Formats: sequence, structure tokens, C-alpha cells
Amino acid sequence: MESNYDIIVVGAGPASSIFCRYISNRYSVLRLDGSFGREKPCGGLLAPQSVSFLKEMDLCVPDEVMVEPRVRHIRTMDLGTGRERNYPRNYVNMDRKKFDNWLKGLSGDNVVTVPAKAVNIRKGRNQYIVSLKFEDGLQRKVTCRYLVGADGAGSIVRRELFKGRKDAIKHYVSIQERYRLKDDEIFACIFDRETSPSCSWLFTKEDEISFGGAYEPQGARDNFEKQKKKLSDDQGYRLGEVLESSACMIYRPRRRSDFMLGDGTMFLAGEAAGFISPTSFEGISYAMKTGKALAEAFDSEDILSSYGKKVKHLQGDILKKRFKRPFMYDQLLRNLVLISGIQAEK
Ligand SMILES: Cc1cc2nc3c(=O)[nH]c(=O)nc-3n(C[C@H](O)[C@H](O)[C@H](O)COP(=O)(O)OP(=O)(O)OC[C@H]3O[C@@H](n4cnc5c(N)ncnc54)[C@H](O)[C@@H]3O)c2cc1C
Repeated sequence: MESNYDIIVVGAGPASSIFCRYISNRYSVLRLDGSFGREKPCGGLLAPQSVSFLKEMDLCVPDEVMVEPRVRHIRTMDLGTGRERNYPRNYVNMDRKKFDNWLKGLSGDNVVTVPAKAVNIRKGRNQYIVSLKFEDGLQRKVTCRYLVGADGAGSIVRRELFKGRKDAIKHYVSIQERYRLKDDEIFACIFDRETSPSCSWLFTKEDEISFGGAYEPQGARDNFEKQKKKLSDDQGYRLGEVLESSACMIYRPRRRSDFMLGDGTMFLAGEAAGFISPTSFEGISYAMKTGKALAEAFDSEDILSSYGKKVKHLQGDILKKRFKRPFMYDQLLRNLVLISGIQAEK
């Protein structure tokens, strides 16, 4: 590891990995992987738009990344009214940790990856000074000309960009647990007005089942437990002993100002920039698409303006989902949709 690079990329999720694959080899790149081998809490479903993107890039998801069972439909459940419907969906069920590791391995020889967290960022005259912390607590400083934040929700680079200003992007706390599968396989999207203004999910992976959801930060754990109890007491799901529990922040963009692409020589990609669906929380396709757009923008004179043009349609796509939101999250409208059976399986 050198002490100076052209670009430092903070994070090693899908946005970072696709950026590192497509960034020109004229640049020396240091990538900081602060996950320390831990899996990001995730439903691990690849939406059709992610699959199409990978296909267009000629990237074939290896067999060992995919898991059974296949997703053929998602059940929408309203715990308040007890109404349920199955909606046909075609997602790829995958192992998120293996997916991230596969993507990490796609970068060029100009990218050096180190297992370290960025803990401090300082702007010097013509460079950034980034303090890194390794898992054993060891620290060191590295400098770069360009800084890329692909470090997801709660991004340290985003916080640096908003320094002195208020970052108003709405966020939830997401909690997820894994258990042994005791009942039939299920893929469900769960709504419960009493415990969450957002949604929760039940997903089957091989012989395990994950239950997770997004909650208001205050009282998140209590509301997660209440929902879990409703699932077992009212719906009869047997979740049993917790094999693993994880939590993280998740963004919900609501307006154009929630997107933050960068400033001068500092840029954001993926969820750190605000790219995630505010309705389904599908974020992998946006992460990969913005990572590629930013890498390509580095070939132009004005990186920020070129990047902005390339991702404008993605911002529009996310903002359009605001119109769909009431039909999912307003209990009255949601139940009218459930009763009508529009687009549902018979
Ligand atoms: C519970 C849950 C379920 C989800 N389910 C799905 C789903 O099924 N399908 C889907 O498409 N999307 C899903 N999403 C959304 C999706 O996970 C994210 O939108 C997507 O991972 C964003 O990719 P990213 O590369 O921008 O950031 P991330 O994938 O979050 O990657 C950021 C990386 O940066 C690292 N990092 C953070 N801070 C630092 C630092 N200071 N220094 C170094 N490294 C750092 C993190 O460890 C992480 O590895 C889900 C999200 C949650 C929370």
C-alpha cells in the first residue's frame, strides 16, 4: 500500500465494485473495505433491473452466488387487517455475501483493496487526507486527489460533504434476523401500521428464513420484537432460535435535494448518494448503475457535470415512485388494492 493515490474509494459494496471495474487504469485507486468480512443486512434479492444491468455488462452471476428457492411471487401481508395477496415477481434469490465478494473480484490491476475503515477525512490544499483504521486497531493516513464515497447509508463521505449543513434525507433503522426454516418457504412483504411506517419482509434461503424490517430510529428494536410476536401469535409463523442478528441504517429519498452527487473532487455513488427505491428498498441496481456512471464520468473534463447527466434519469425514476408510495403505505389505499386483487395472483 502506497501513501498517495489518485482516487480513494470508501466502501466495497456494489457501487464501489462496479466503479472499480470501470474506472480507467490511468488512475491509481485505493479501495477501503470496512466490512471486515461481515455480511450487509439484506434481503438478497436481485431485481430484474439488476439482472438486466449485469447482462448488459456481460457479467454472469456465478452459480454458487445463487440460492434456492426461486422467487415466483411475493405475498403482501397487512398485519393490521389480516389481508393477504400473492403478487407474481421474478427476482433472483442470492447469497449477498458471496455476491459482494464476486463483484469485488472484478476490478482491474490498478485497484488496491485494503480491509480498513475510513475514520476521518480532512481536506488539504489539493488533496484529501484520509485516516484509516484496520480491524486490529492500527491506524495510518493516506492521501488522494479524488475521494469517492460508496459507503452506503450513514456514509462518512456524505457527512463530510454536508459538514455545517443539515442533511435532511429520511432514514430508518433496519433490523434483520436469521432462523432455521420450520414452515413452508415464503417471500413476503409485511405492513403493520402500529409498529412501522415502512415495511418488513420474510425471505427463505435454502434451509433458513430471514425476518427483517425498516423502523423509525426511536423504539426500533421494540417495534421489531412486537412485529415478530404478531407474526407468531396471529399468523402462526415459527421463527425459533436466532442464528444471526444484524442492523444498519437505510435511506428513504423523498425529493431531489436528497441526492448528493459530489462537490469539486469529492463524489458519492450508490445509497450514499441517495439512490435507493423509497418503496421497495431495492438498491443494488442503483448502486451498480451509479458506480458505472461515475467511473465513466472520470473520462471527461468536468466529472461532476458529466456524472449528473448520466444519473439524471435514475433520480427521476426514484422520485416517480413517490406516486406509488400511498398505495403501498397508506392503510386504507393498500387495503383497497388488496381487496380489488389488481395485478394479484388468483
Ligand atoms: C435489510 C435490507 C434489505 C435489503 N434488501 C435488498 C434486496 O433484497 N435487494 C436490493 O436490491 N437491495 C436491497 N437493499 C438495499 C441494498 O442493500 C443497498 O441499497 C445497496 O447495498 C447499496 O449498495 P452500496 O454499494 O451503495 O452500499 P453498501 O452495499 O451499503 O456498501 C457500503 C460498504 O461500505 C462499507 N463502509 C461503510 N462505511 C465505511 C467506512 N467508513 N470505511 C470503509 N468502508 C465503509 C460497508 O461496510 C459496506 O461494505 C436492502 C437494504 C437493507 C438495509
